[in-house]
Amino acid sequence: MRVKAAIVPKMGLDVIVEEVELDEPGEFEARIKIMTCTICHSDIHAYTGEHGVYDGPGIAGHEISGIVDAVGSKVTYVKPGDRVLCTEIRAGCGHCDTCLKGEPWFCRNIPPMSFRVPSPYTRLNGERIIQTCSGASGFAEYTNAHEAMLCKLDDDIPFEIGSALACGFMSGFGAVLNRCKIKPGESFAVVGAGGVGLSAIMGARMSGAIPIIAIDTMDVKLEAAKRFGATHGFNPKNCDIVEEVKKVTNGLGVDHSMVAVAGKGIKKTAFDVCCQFGQMVIVGHELYEHEWLSEINAMDLLFGKRVTGSVMGAIKLRKDIPIYEDYYRKGMVDIDALLTKRFTLDQIKDALDDSLHGSLKNVVVIGGTGL
Ligand SMILES: [Zn+2]
Ligand SMILES: [Zn+2]
Repeated sequence: MRVKAAIVPKMGLDVIVEEVELDEPGEFEARIKIMTCTICHSDIHAYTGEHGVYDGPGIAGHEISGIVDAVGSKVTYVKPGDRVLCTEIRAGCGHCDTCLKGEPWFCRNIPPMSFRVPSPYTRLNGERIIQTCSGASGFAEYTNAHEAMLCKLDDDIPFEIGSALACGFMSGFGAVLNRCKIKPGESFAVVGAGGVGLSAIMGARMSGAIPIIAIDTMDVKLEAAKRFGATHGFNPKNCDIVEEVKKVTNGLGVDHSMVAVAGKGIKKTAFDVCCQFGQMVIVGHELYEHEWLSEINAMDLLFGKRVTGSVMGAIKLRKDIPIYEDYYRKGMVDIDALLTKRFTLDQIKDALDDSLHGSLKNVVVIGGTGL
C-alpha cells in the first residue's frame, strides 16, 4: 500500500517525508497503523550510520504504538483493531536456549534482531529502503512487524505512553529492576540523564535507593533528574565526578552505577564511581568494535567489582509491560514528564534537531495521540 514515510535518501540526517510503497505483511507479521513514535537517540545514531553504515536510503523509528490494521495468515496473538506497542525485543519462542534460561528478550528464533536490512518499503523510484535500527519502522504511517515484537496496550494507556514504554523507559527502568536489583538503602548513580537515564532514576527511586546520583554534561538534564528523584546532580564539566560521588557515599562510591549514554570514557567514569563490591550496568553503547573495555583493571574485578549490561532492560515483554502500565496508571512512574514536545510526521526534521539539543523525548504524532 502507498504510505507516507520519513526517509533519508542516503546515510545522514537529511530526512525527507515522501510517499513509499509498503509490502503486504508476511505470514507471521501484522500491519500496524502507527499512532505515535517517540524519538530515541538510537534513531539519530541509526540514520547517521553511527550504529553501523548502510548503503542507499534509510528509515528509522522504533518506539512505536498504534492499531493493528491487518494480519498475516499465521498470526495468532493480535487481530485488526487491537491497540499495541511495537518494540525491538521479542516475546520469545519458549524453546530456544535463551528463552529456556528465562531471558526471552533476546530469543534466537523469532526473528533474529537484524538491523540495516532491506525494509518492506520501496521508494517510488524503485529503491528498496534500509531498515536502520529495528525490525519495524516507526517514522511512517504504517509498518509491518513480526507479531513477537508486539505487546497489547490497555485501553486507558495513551499511545504516546506506549511509545515511550517501547524502548526508552524499558531500557532504563527495566535495567534497574532486572540487572541492578537494588536493595533498599543501596546507592545508585547513572551517567547520562536522557530518557533512559531518567527512567533508570525512576526505577532506583522505586527500589529504595539512596543517594540517587545523576551525572550529565547538560545542567538542564541534571535539573530534570532531580524532578524524577535524583538526590544529587553532578556535571563533569564543573567537578571531579569520582571525588564528588565519594563525598556523598561515605568515601566509598556507589553500590550500583549505570551507563545510560553512548560515548568515549563514560564507562571508565561509571566503573570508577562504584564501590569495591559495586556493579556497573552498561546500557548505552556504540558499535561492537568500539566497545572494548581496555580502561578497566582486572584487579578491581578480582577484588569484587562487577560489570554487566542489558538490552532493552532485559524485560519479559508481555509479562512486564502490563506491570509498567499499572505503575503508570497508579502514578508510581511519571512517564508523561519524559515527553517533551509533539511534532507531526512532516515536522520530523525539526523533531530530530530538537532532540539533539536537550529535549528529553519528543513525540512524532502520526495517527493521533487519542486513547
Ligand atoms: Zn530506543
Ligand atoms: Zn526463544
